[in-house]
Amino acid sequence: MNTNAVIAIHGGAGTILRASLPASAEADYHAALHAVLTAGQRVLAEGGSALDAVSEAVRLLEDCPLFNAGHGAVYTAAGTHELDAAIMDGSNLEAGAVCCVKRVRNPVLAARRVLECSEHVLFTGEGAESFAAAHGVEFVEPAYFGTEARHRQWLLARDQQRAMLDHDGASFAFSSSAAADGEPTPHEPLDPNRKFGTVGAVALDAHGHVAAATSTGGITNKQVGRVGDAPLIGAGCYADDATCAVSTTGSGEMFMRMVAAYDVAAQMAYRNVSLQEAAHDVVMNRLPKIDGRGGLIAVDARGNIALPFNTEGMYRGFARVGATPETAIYR
Ligand code: ASP
Repeated sequence: MNTNAVIAIHGGAGTILRASLPASAEADYHAALHAVLTAGQRVLAEGGSALDAVSEAVRLLEDCPLFNAGHGAVYTAAGTHELDAAIMDGSNLEAGAVCCVKRVRNPVLAARRVLECSEHVLFTGEGAESFAAAHGVEFVEPAYFGTEARHRQWLLARDQQRAMLDHDGASFAFSSSAAADGEPTPHEPLDPNRKFGTVGAVALDAHGHVAAATSTGGITNKQVGRVGDAPLIGAGCYADDATCAVSTTGSGEMFMRMVAAYDVAAQMAYRNVSLQEAAHDVVMNRLPKIDGRGGLIAVDARGNIALPFNTEGMYRGFARVGATPETAIYR
């Protein structure tokens, strides 16, 4: 039995606006992360698999409107929601993913059904929804995913589309979220238009197996049909007992081009470096070379964890079995 069982989660990375975050909102994020970690920790404490722990953690994060996945997902340029998710089991390299789903309440559970019930790995759009329906996954009306705060963020992003393409800085972030018409900004520490929001979990269970899951609404005001790194095995999600489990968040296109999640595992395998070193290299050295912004969470089979990010902040936390969960937002 492995006594290092641990779960780590993230709820997105991006530009932090400490000044715009009321203490009560900050407390809400910490409380939400804490509750999810406690649930994941319970699964592990009861001898559950890492796969069960990450499924449960991501399902809860999807249900929480504070995070950009499931209920609370961002809007596309058409004012709709398109959701992506992936899950991978490090014990056998089995994986499942869905992308561009519009009515699946918990995309991670659809991804899990793909992992368990299909010879394929990734289903998209209507096909993904047919598969999910045939395998008993819960459906909701598209309006379920929307929240007022996200809708306001979308309107702001849509109106400032040109500026949104500039990926550079806190100054734009600040000016755009301090709405010109004097409307209060949504109570959110990450800049609403430029934040990278995704949720994810990685875990090591008592049997020595690792797993990872990632789920997202994508990027605010994204083009219809755009898919990021989150549902792509190797880019936004990866797990292999021989190395580590990884879930990413950030500018998806760059994470895809770097095959970021797999690169952490590959560096461990081929360069024989530690989890910490591999994760740091991907996030702090390799991604910035192509302007890749964001972070990742990772765990290895010995229970080491790494939570690096190159943005101002990343909602994150971890919990070892038997210990108090730890959560953080800023650097
Ligand atoms: N990586 C996600 C995507 O590109 C977004 C995010 O993490 O915020 O869809």
